[in-house]
Amino acid sequence: MRVLLVEDNVELVSLLKRGLAQSGFDTDSVGTATDAAHVLSTMRYAAIVLDLGLPDDDGLTVLREIRRRGDSTPVLVLTARDGVSDRVTGLREGADDYMAKPFAMEELIARLHALLRRPGNLLGKRLSCGNVELDTEGRQVLVNGALRAFPARETAVLEILLRRSGNVAPKRLFEDHLFGLSGDVGSNAVEVYVHRLRKMLSDSGASVKIHTVRGVGYILADEKAASETAR
Ligand code: CA
Repeated sequence: MRVLLVEDNVELVSLLKRGLAQSGFDTDSVGTATDAAHVLSTMRYAAIVLDLGLPDDDGLTVLREIRRRGDSTPVLVLTARDGVSDRVTGLREGADDYMAKPFAMEELIARLHALLRRPGNLLGKRLSCGNVELDTEGRQVLVNGALRAFPARETAVLEILLRRSGNVAPKRLFEDHLFGLSGDVGSNAVEVYVHRLRKMLSDSGASVKIHTVRGVGYILADEKAASETAR
């Protein structure tokens, strides 16, 4: 699988290339937003690792442009900026994940793999797990084929869980998305919304359950599939 690195720090590029090669990725790299735009106008990649601080332009310009074209290639933003507002901006502009420098190579590789495993990379796609479906474009939740009125934030929490598809969704990811909807989210907001979503799912007869991974985040699992495998 080929990954595009958009990064101007030469040492970091060679470090990343080595790390990615060891994990079986082929990489191309460019050091400016202009070169990135040029390469991306003709090439398709499995994923893009994008630095925001580029010498000629903001990496977000590159991101905006590819999303404007309807290109849904997974983008992992890699940057020295790690403020909450920067993360939110990056995610709003269509980044799929966000890592602050300095970072651990292992984590970067793990996150890339998680991005590539996602079934819902395409924009506007229907996501599902067990008997729960989410139309990400129409923001409609269906449980067992029946339309359910889930509020916006609970739907956002469900979307994050579905997009991680069997992988743990870190708490930070929920915080970013919830802060993105409104600025006044309290410190236990994630727990509150997860709790509400759990109740809504169980009240509507969903076959999925949200499990807490202490100190890390949450994971959605289809209980029916799990019990059938166990049999
Ligand atoms: Ca840079």
